[in-house]
Amino acid sequence: MNASILIIYTGGTIGMKEDPTDGTLKPFDFSQILAEVPELNKFGVKLDAYTFSPLIDSSDVEPGMWVNLAETIRDRYEDYDGFVILHGTDTMAYSASTLSFMLEGLTKPVIFTGSQLPIGVPRTDGKENFISAVEIAAAKDEKGHARVPEVAIYFDSKLLRGNRSTKYSAEAFNAFASPNCPPLARAGISIQYDTELIRKPIYWDAQLRVQTHLDTRVAILKVHPGMTEQVMRSVVCDKLTRAVILETYGSGNALSKPWFLDILKEGDAMGKVLLNVTQCKSGTVNMDLYATGASLKHAGVLSGADITTEAALGKLFCLLGRSEDNRWVKTMLEKDLCGEISK
Ligand code: ASP
Repeated sequence: MNASILIIYTGGTIGMKEDPTDGTLKPFDFSQILAEVPELNKFGVKLDAYTFSPLIDSSDVEPGMWVNLAETIRDRYEDYDGFVILHGTDTMAYSASTLSFMLEGLTKPVIFTGSQLPIGVPRTDGKENFISAVEIAAAKDEKGHARVPEVAIYFDSKLLRGNRSTKYSAEAFNAFASPNCPPLARAGISIQYDTELIRKPIYWDAQLRVQTHLDTRVAILKVHPGMTEQVMRSVVCDKLTRAVILETYGSGNALSKPWFLDILKEGDAMGKVLLNVTQCKSGTVNMDLYATGASLKHAGVLSGADITTEAALGKLFCLLGRSEDNRWVKTMLEKDLCGEISK
């Protein structure tokens, strides 16, 4: 039987066209996208489309849209073998990361893709990205199970785990990287899946559970030379913030100044979740390596290990949405929930 795939079109460059009145790119409708990719009809895959309204540049993505996306998948889960989400590249890694935590017990592929050049442009990367994403979403193994029962991003011949990816280039077709986790698949003349790396559900007949409550009381603070006490305090000790992601240097290091550590201790005493992620694109936080890292640990900061900032944000939104108890959130934060940190 032919696979059925639902394409969820949210907007992004892939579906944009130049507006002759002001020369900017604006989204056009899905039928025009399909008309640009007649090759999709040759797959023998049944394709349906669901279009978001309004279509957006992904810079406008809000958590409400993730809820909408997750509910769209949940409501049609039984009708399709896989889902392809056409999405702008700017926040695709945030969306894919957060969806990976929202969709628990996933047994079907949810593949994000988009492009750097609109699909109607002769040198577009959108066609190959779209066609291969559909092929991956439809792929089954010998037992008839989905080859990739994960939330992933397909871009420029690589399939990356969604919660490991980050937008890396504003211009290259190779726009996404996953420095701490190898690709789940590579597309050459055929698509080569890394079957060891791809996560499998515990039960193939598991029920999908969708988390629709996200708590966004999270701040991201990038540590930098010249950081002031006032800024640091206003972020870490703000009464409305439940968690702070500290983007630190190298293997998790930051200032050793007493005021900096005192503010962290104050935040910790207020019950805040303080998470250490590295500003480096690859590698991991290790707060036992340098004295400056160790003092963060003593101030109550947790290690994010090799998690990306995008995944840390999505994981916190979901965990905080599940419980008002920050101690429980801290325990869960250090666990690998869906492949977002290396064990
Ligand atoms: N600004 C666009 C977006 O994220 C960029 C893209 O799709 O490549 O929607």
